[in-house]
Amino acid sequence: MSQPKEIPQMEKIVSLAKRRGFVFQSSEIYGGINGFWDYGPLGAELKRNLRDTWWRTMTRDREDVVGLDATIIMHPAIWKASGHVDTFADLMRECSVTNKRVRADHVEPQSGVVMQFSGFSITGGSSHNDSITVLMRGGEHIESFRKRVRQLVAQARNQTAENIELHGESKIDAVEGSVDFHPETGGALGEARPFNLMLKTYVGPTATENDIAYLRPETAQAIFAQFKNVVDSSRQRVPFGICQIGKAFRNEVTPRNFTFRSREFEQMELEFFIKPDEAIEAVCGSVAAWSEGADLSVPQDNWGWEMWHRYWVKERTDYYAGIGLGADVLDYHWQTKEELAHYARACVDILFKFPFGTEELEGLAARGDFDLMAHQTASRKPMDVFDEEVKNAFAKWTDEQRAALVERKKAEHRAKEKGGLTDAQVDEWCQKLFKGFYVPHVIEPSAGLDRLALAVLSNAYSEVEKTDAKGKSETLYVMRLHPRLAPVKVGVFPLLKNKPELVAKAREVFELLRKHFSAFYDEGGSIGKRYARQDEAGTPFCLTIDFETLGEKGEELKDTVTLRHRDDGSQERVKISELLGKLLPMVG
Ligand code: ATP
Repeated sequence: MSQPKEIPQMEKIVSLAKRRGFVFQSSEIYGGINGFWDYGPLGAELKRNLRDTWWRTMTRDREDVVGLDATIIMHPAIWKASGHVDTFADLMRECSVTNKRVRADHVEPQSGVVMQFSGFSITGGSSHNDSITVLMRGGEHIESFRKRVRQLVAQARNQTAENIELHGESKIDAVEGSVDFHPETGGALGEARPFNLMLKTYVGPTATENDIAYLRPETAQAIFAQFKNVVDSSRQRVPFGICQIGKAFRNEVTPRNFTFRSREFEQMELEFFIKPDEAIEAVCGSVAAWSEGADLSVPQDNWGWEMWHRYWVKERTDYYAGIGLGADVLDYHWQTKEELAHYARACVDILFKFPFGTEELEGLAARGDFDLMAHQTASRKPMDVFDEEVKNAFAKWTDEQRAALVERKKAEHRAKEKGGLTDAQVDEWCQKLFKGFYVPHVIEPSAGLDRLALAVLSNAYSEVEKTDAKGKSETLYVMRLHPRLAPVKVGVFPLLKNKPELVAKAREVFELLRKHFSAFYDEGGSIGKRYARQDEAGTPFCLTIDFETLGEKGEELKDTVTLRHRDDGSQERVKISELLGKLLPMVG
């Protein structure tokens, strides 16, 4: 007997996500729209909980980070200054048969026979001499291959395959591990060309070139653009951060892996502004050097960019551990010198072990003063801050000390391959610094909310085999979501729905709890079925109100309920008056 086909883990997660209302395909009734996803009732709660944990950790629990909520469409000059208009592009290649695009670095190697047709004709219509080159994959039958090519040609021309006749078939070559064919169609790929990822729109009543605006491809630029307003209105002093959660849009060439790479998604970004290391040197005498095992628990005055960067990697790792993503599912990729952007001093990607591979969840970059400087230059509005302490510290330096610093900075910039300042610019920068003025440097932890939701869903997914009394086995699905993230914190059930006293008591408990966190009342089906439904939804706790609760089995069990724990199935008796005290710390 043949074994049933193993369904890939990711497919099972996608199917559960749809079945239970975590994630739906956007516009599904019209066939969907590639790269866009909607969150159903459970998904919306999960995302909200994730957003809340991030916001609380990054700003509410800290005195040195404030929030921002900026618009999605901003002045297009912002994207010119940031470099997005000119360089925010992926290299993409186009299928020569269908014009379908694929990211150049997303083409998996393929093997097969390269087949060519000298042209085609459309029944009752035109004849074309454009040659068509398509890969016939290993194992593909020649007849089904020809049919497939007819379909590809037909689709691209709004025809049906039956109307297409192919001419001049020939075998060109046999290839192994080639990356020159479209992964879906097998059509020969054209040269790699840059493709800007920003989505365009028009603002205002006319739709001319002058009215073009962009849907933001990241939330970070608004933070830089509003930096001065925040400094002037919030009484924060460097070092401090501004964070934002919001939608971002990228016209990704190949959206894929469910919500992992979408065209509309949410980002959670922090720009943490710090003093340049030279200012720390003046104030503290030296800059703390990072070494393995350095104490990163409490920020210190003598921290330069490197310690701050390491500190944020640790903070973000702690955050993930706090929502159930521990060291076993995370990894790190420290970008090499060759991978780093010319202005970045260091960048580490925090990776998550997704079912389809270990991929980026969040990037943490030490970006120097690149962004604020770019906006200062483009907007001609100063982005520097005045720091009395720095001014006073440099006032104590000798002329020789200051001259030595200027020379050191000049040598550093001359050695840069790209983006270095001229000697005159270094002079100007140092003279301002000596007077206490500088443009802050920045550490940027930038995470994707949808990617995190996907990581959390993949991490929570588990299957349990259950065999009933008759020996029939079935697979049950348990979403082991961290209680802080679970869309529903507690399910409340009366043992029987046709006993008014049980129902009344259960409703009373439900009303009590739902004032404090999301609770779900369910009286349909057996208790086992109700548990199973909540397990699939990721609900960490269930309460059953039974005859003991009503006092029918003795006074000491009166007003107690059965509390059942999702992850180990254990049950305990808890007084109704003690429920909140017990559950709140676990779900809050
Ligand atoms: P990638 O290399 O995967 O395209 P990136 O390095 O371009 O990502 P950043 O610009 O650093 O990503 O964006 C920060 C975070 O935003 C990423 O770590 C990711 O979590 C999220 N993100 C970026 N692009 C997408 C997308 N298309 N869909 C969902 N999340 C995204």
